[in-house]
Amino acid sequence: MRVLGIETSCDETGVAIYDTSHTGGSGLLADALYSQIAMHAEYGGVVPELASRDHTRKLLPLIEQVLHDAKLTRNDLDGIAYTAGPGLVGALMVGASTAHGMARALDIPVLGVHHMEGHLLAPMLEDDAPDFPFVALLVSGGHTQLVEVQALGHYQLLGESVDDAAGEAFDKAAKMLGLAYPGGPHVAKLAEQGDPKRFRFPRPMTDRPGLDFSFSGLKTHTLTAIRQLEAAGELDTQAKADVARAFEEAVVDTLVIKCRRALDQTGLKRLVVAGGVSANQRLRERLAVETEKRNARSYYPRGRFCTDNGAMIAYVGAQRLAAGERDDNGVMKATPRWPLDTLTPT
Ligand code: ATP
Ligand code: MG
Ligand code: FE
Repeated sequence: MRVLGIETSCDETGVAIYDTSHTGGSGLLADALYSQIAMHAEYGGVVPELASRDHTRKLLPLIEQVLHDAKLTRNDLDGIAYTAGPGLVGALMVGASTAHGMARALDIPVLGVHHMEGHLLAPMLEDDAPDFPFVALLVSGGHTQLVEVQALGHYQLLGESVDDAAGEAFDKAAKMLGLAYPGGPHVAKLAEQGDPKRFRFPRPMTDRPGLDFSFSGLKTHTLTAIRQLEAAGELDTQAKADVARAFEEAVVDTLVIKCRRALDQTGLKRLVVAGGVSANQRLRERLAVETEKRNARSYYPRGRFCTDNGAMIAYVGAQRLAAGERDDNGVMKATPRWPLDTLTPT
């Protein structure tokens, strides 16, 4: 089954085609991405109305592009999957209405899928994809969650952030340091020049049991540190790098501690890390050491599938459409809030 996947939940328009007659990454026939980052950077964050309009402008040309790249025509498609949530409602509706319009015209099935299930299963597009079951750490701009995954659709939430997401914390710290949006990669780059011994920031919620996270206190701590340096006339490039380093270490250490706990608690030996923050090299280095100690292994999507993309949506949609799932009563779905653990297996 050849499935067109459409991602428009936030600030990237992603389109891909996945073919279920292949396995793993070889089923990915084409994928294309248009990032709106440059447009939103001017405002220091995503402007929802601009995002919707830009998805409208870019989606159809990207669909033409992936069909061309895969040497297919619309008539070769057997189904369409789109991100139905969570995300910005206007942005979601662009993908949902385009998917439904096309599916109606082509008389093929259509299904709205969960954006975080896409992130969670993105490592399935790699050659060394993990087998089930595994623990997943989802770390993105809007989510920080630990999930026990028994099979596709079998998701048990082990813990999550009670306030800011890890990616959001990176973005806010970047803003305080005068770095561009989205801040994660910029903070990470600056942190490379930082002295890890100069500051030590708190590791929130690690001194008590449990798998929940909190990053808003760390944000305040970062702001206070910057203000103090500024007041002392010491906020030079090196000091900013030292703050970035302390901030990154605190976030990474917190994530590592909770992953360790989740592996011990579940007894599982596979850890999947996905979502934008999974691109962070320091996090990957630290988790490599921790998993090795436990005779476990960590799995990641390739770099460009860590952040939003159409490939992960085409993959998840293809699995579910091939199992016979369809949108209820043929009605399009755009659900800004949609808890991952309400999903069901195929
Ligand atoms: P969600 O998936 O929760 O709806 P989102 O789609 O906006 O949120 P993603 O696109 O998966 O999130 O990831 C974007 C986030 O990842 C941003 O917050 C960005 O700062 C962060 N990020 C990207 N690269 C890095 C990195 N190298 N280090 C830390 N954070 C990073
Ligand atoms: Mg994004
Ligand atoms: Fe995302």
